[in-house]
Amino acid sequence: MDEYDIFGHLLEYQATEEFNASAIHQQQLETERKRPLMAKASRKYRADHSVLVQLRAEAARMKSDIIEQQGGLCFYCSAELQSSAEIDHIKPLIAFSDADIEHANDRSNLCVSCQSCNRRKGRKRIKGQQL
Ligand SMILES: [Zn+2]
Repeated sequence: MDEYDIFGHLLEYQATEEFNASAIHQQQLETERKRPLMAKASRKYRADHSVLVQLRAEAARMKSDIIEQQGGLCFYCSAELQSSAEIDHIKPLIAFSDADIEHANDRSNLCVSCQSCNRRKGRKRIKGQQL
């Protein structure tokens, strides 16, 4: 069998139903293989997301107490806090791992800051949305 024959043979084979069936089958296998991974990833994402939402809500409930404890001043710049003041996780929520997330809302990790300090900290929540 020379080179041309091999090539011709391959083309013939690729035109067969057997080949098509096997290509489709490979694709199905690949999709099946990925499916549980995708489902797991999205479950984990949803779980993480709801934990963060809960932590933020819980922290927000401590806001007025913390403002009082800070004497009505921004934790970072000591500017007088306005109604736009925001509860802030000193070590950002995103920086916690599953192992220590329970400490995210420890009083020592919470403060209230003025809007500009909170913004300056960057990478923060955007109006309560996903990080
Ligand atoms: Zn400030």
